[in-house]
Amino acid sequence: YTATYDEQEDIMQRAATKRQRHINVALVGNPNCGKTSLFNYASGANERVGNYSGVTVSAKEGIAEFEGYEIHLVDLPGTYSLSAYSPEELYVRKQIIEKTPDVVLNVVDASNLERNLYLTTQLIDMHLRMVCALNMYDETERRGDNIDHEKLGKLLAVPMVPTVFKTGRGVTALFRTIVEIYEGRLKEGHIHVNHGQYIEQGIDSLRDVLRNNDDVRRRYTPRFLAIKLLEHDSNADDFARKLPNADDIFSIRDNAVKTIERELRTDVETAIMDAKYGFINGALQEAEFGIGKDEDTYKITHLIDHVITHRYIGFPLFILIIYLMFYVTFSLGQYPMEWIESAVSWIGGMTSAYMAEGPLKDMITDGVIGGVGAVIVFLPQILILYAFISFMEDSGYMARAAFIMDKIMHKMGLHGKSFIPLIMGFGCNVPAVMATRTIESRRSRLITMLILPFMSCSARLPIYIMIVGTFFATQYQTPIMLLLYIIGIIVATLMSRILAAFLIKGDDIPFVMELPPYRFPTLKAIARHTWEKGKQYLKKMGGIILVASIIVWALGYFPHNDRLNAQQQKEASYIGMIGKTVQPVFEPLGFNWKMNVGIIAGIGAKEIVASTIGVLYSGDDSFADDEKVVEGDSKYSMLRNKMEQDGMTQSSAISFLIFVLLYFPCVATIAAIKNEADSWGWAAFTAVYTTTVAWIIAFAAYNIARLV
Ligand code: GDP
Ligand code: MG
Repeated sequence: YTATYDEQEDIMQRAATKRQRHINVALVGNPNCGKTSLFNYASGANERVGNYSGVTVSAKEGIAEFEGYEIHLVDLPGTYSLSAYSPEELYVRKQIIEKTPDVVLNVVDASNLERNLYLTTQLIDMHLRMVCALNMYDETERRGDNIDHEKLGKLLAVPMVPTVFKTGRGVTALFRTIVEIYEGRLKEGHIHVNHGQYIEQGIDSLRDVLRNNDDVRRRYTPRFLAIKLLEHDSNADDFARKLPNADDIFSIRDNAVKTIERELRTDVETAIMDAKYGFINGALQEAEFGIGKDEDTYKITHLIDHVITHRYIGFPLFILIIYLMFYVTFSLGQYPMEWIESAVSWIGGMTSAYMAEGPLKDMITDGVIGGVGAVIVFLPQILILYAFISFMEDSGYMARAAFIMDKIMHKMGLHGKSFIPLIMGFGCNVPAVMATRTIESRRSRLITMLILPFMSCSARLPIYIMIVGTFFATQYQTPIMLLLYIIGIIVATLMSRILAAFLIKGDDIPFVMELPPYRFPTLKAIARHTWEKGKQYLKKMGGIILVASIIVWALGYFPHNDRLNAQQQKEASYIGMIGKTVQPVFEPLGFNWKMNVGIIAGIGAKEIVASTIGVLYSGDDSFADDEKVVEGDSKYSMLRNKMEQDGMTQSSAISFLIFVLLYFPCVATIAAIKNEADSWGWAAFTAVYTTTVAWIIAFAAYNIARLV
């Protein structure tokens, strides 16, 4: 069958109109305003829609069919503004300027109009063909807001369409408007956002010198470029520098800036921002906009955010919260810890009193109770730490913390987003490694994973508390403990910079952190999350730590010789041999053979360091008998005596603490890194480099501590 001439004509005609009926639409809007929801709804895609700091990386493209038109949608990363400060902002700007979409669809969260319209005013400066979707319209209705969208649309000279992208409401009207704009059927109006006398004068004078440049007109509207130049936008500066009359432009700019700053008594950037917000407020008033009182969910979020992400208050507040977290962990955890401690020693007393002499009794008292008992007492501290972390995650504060830390993280070669897994690392490194999945840049993700082991996980707490409690006076204990966490963070920072600079190259894709609304987490949710972690801890006790304690005990018990005392027995046993074999490696760090054994056993899990030392020093009363116990009869001063007999000093305690903090995280973390990085190479690298770093820093600390 061959098509007749007429039919061929018809097919070609249709192909031509089809090509012509292809509309490029760029989705621009604040984070979390619903862009991806529309994208998915209209193009049938399944991109991640997130309330929890979800991200849109680079541009996702999809096609929606509408009444014979092909609407080509590009989902851009969310931005609050079009300045040149963040990669996302520059990216969006570049997309609009260079890809010149037929229509810009500005998605606006109508439940948060004022803030969202800020971006709209910047888009208006760019003189684009655009339409605003007043999304989340259901939220505003629920709250009883009064929005005269037609009036507002007229005031801004941008058509406004109420939508609910979650359900698809208003999408047809929106697409119809897009087609009308594209076909030129909609009367095109245009307004200038009025920035007030002085700024407008500056814009005018700059626009005059920019206007007769073909280069400018091809890329920017002169007005937009003029505003950006006044703002000292680095990108605009770079562009203007290449223009033939660059000198003129910059001298006019500098004059205008001087005038504006003198007259308005503020820096020009703030002046322009204030002017834009003033304009928005005016327009909203004019349209008789009013926020309803029916349900005021978002308002609270915005109020809290105002304080928490504040330029000056945000960071100190964050530090205060972290400090509080550790302070409560250590101080409040003390009391239940003492109760568990006395329960453990009561059980120990009962078993040694009522069990028949023999290896079984030794195994129960020295192995199981000495080992598991040494670690289980820290359950309260770990629960408290997890309660804090759960609260930060569930309430939405973690996302803000990441937001606050973004600048600092950039200095580390990372993004604010890496911060959430890093904080989670204080709890346990394993889920933290998995949480790096939310970081969409592979490079950032890999770096984050590799430095995560330096975040001191809660499994390291038992050994800290044991050693710090043993070797340092009460008033120094909390500061030293905090110092350990800080050392971990510093080492992580340094390593991150080194890795970013030398090892893990590559470009970063821009992405944005989104701030979900605050929800006050229910006590039940916090309790459940905390308990889930606590259960894991207890399972570890009954599993790997119990087994390790028994193995360590057995290696210390055999070959058995009844004539030796407990101390001599352990030294002559297999474990003594192992500990002494590796002594040359650890000698420079000031460890004794028992510490060495703890370190080796800790490869399985870091709690085992504490349980091992618990086993090695339990049932070993020979010292307590002939040594005079100085500080009352606390168990720590006894332990201290024993450890000092073994050649431990305060300096070697410090170096031991640092080594435990930094060396090989644990088998589970390395396995997680292998899975997430999908490479044995990076997993092996992590194992080796963390241990090397640990050795070097512990060595330095030991020698410095010995001098002072
Ligand atoms: P994006 O960051 O702009 O891509 O926003 P998303 O599409 O990821 O949406 C953010 C959140 O808002 C998601 O939880 C959506 O389910 C929700 N959402 C999107 N549109 C609406 C809407 O019209 N009304 C309501 N109530 N929620 C919406
Ligand atoms: Mg999105």
